[in-house]
Amino acid sequence: MLTILEPTPESLRKAAEALRAGELVGMPTETVYGLAGNAFDPAVLARIFEIKKRPFFDPLIVHVAEFTEVEALVRDVPADARLLMERFWPGPITLVLPKTDRVPDLATAGLDTVAVRMPAHPVARALLRATGLPLAAPSANPFGCLSPTTALHVAEAFSEGIALVLDGGPCRIGVESTVVGWENGEPVMLRPGGISLELLEETLGKNVAVAANGGEASEGKATASPGNLPWHYAPRTPLRLLTSVANDIPSPGKPGGGSSGLIWFGAEPAPEGFVLVENLSATADLAEAAEKLFAALHRLDAAGLDALVAVMVPEQGLGRAINERLRKAAAAPVDHRDQRNRLK
Ligand code: AMP
Ligand code: MG
Repeated sequence: MLTILEPTPESLRKAAEALRAGELVGMPTETVYGLAGNAFDPAVLARIFEIKKRPFFDPLIVHVAEFTEVEALVRDVPADARLLMERFWPGPITLVLPKTDRVPDLATAGLDTVAVRMPAHPVARALLRATGLPLAAPSANPFGCLSPTTALHVAEAFSEGIALVLDGGPCRIGVESTVVGWENGEPVMLRPGGISLELLEETLGKNVAVAANGGEASEGKATASPGNLPWHYAPRTPLRLLTSVANDIPSPGKPGGGSSGLIWFGAEPAPEGFVLVENLSATADLAEAAEKLFAALHRLDAAGLDALVAVMVPEQGLGRAINERLRKAAAAPVDHRDQRNRLK
């Protein structure tokens, strides 16, 4: 079992020392827990990919605590990006900008852009400051699996290779950051996340394109971001989506149907017959649903059920990020289920 430490001046010092010595640390952020390492050290970056079994074509997000640190990473900050930084940093938005030579190719999958974010979680900020380095930190889970929103999720996913995990409590946002890049000078939302498309458009005063695969997949949209794959965020238990409760009421009790768990949303009573029901928000609050999403999926996945069913939430605000996670989770291939033991 990995060491989980409460954040204290001493544990922060210990974590910062480990990071400066080239080790990896489980870092709480407001979105999900990150697997953090020195972003300037290619050997450290290689270890992040290795322990996550993450493909090298999937670039990492580099985290900073101070605006001044961005200069070492990014060559040019367009006016739109500056507006987003000023309004949302520290917070759940990642900006993809032209990189400097100091950023190793491994961090960017060889692209000439780097993804940068300033997280808001006080423990992430304290750790970044204590370390004095930008930290590359993808989610602290094996590639393709459910994202970790508690320190225990991290410890359950990895048994070695991480110096320690700082326990910053359950993640407040609960879904990954929104990723924004620029194509021909125009902003593109590459991944829906903790800042809604509506807020992006309001802040920039213009339409923001949505990358294919970055939300409801549709043709003719901007190109997808590398690493933005058709399936992701997947529990081991097969997951089926309900687009509309009215015309697609699940019937788990049917002969041969096996035991099922349900992800539900809103004040309507959940359909009967499910062994376990997780209501993401009884008041239909999308922020609450995002916060609870991964922990609910972790609990259902640990229950040894035959199948999971999830109702989709309204496709607006944080609902876009939630539905994108659910769609990708439901698209996982059958053999994803068999990987549990292999990854341990
Ligand atoms: P994760 O670390 O899994 O939260 O996600 C990082 C994601 O950000 C990647 O999977 C990409 O989709 C996106 N990303 C990171 N760097 C870049 C980049 N240079 N260009 C485009 N997308 C990027
Ligand atoms: Mg991830």
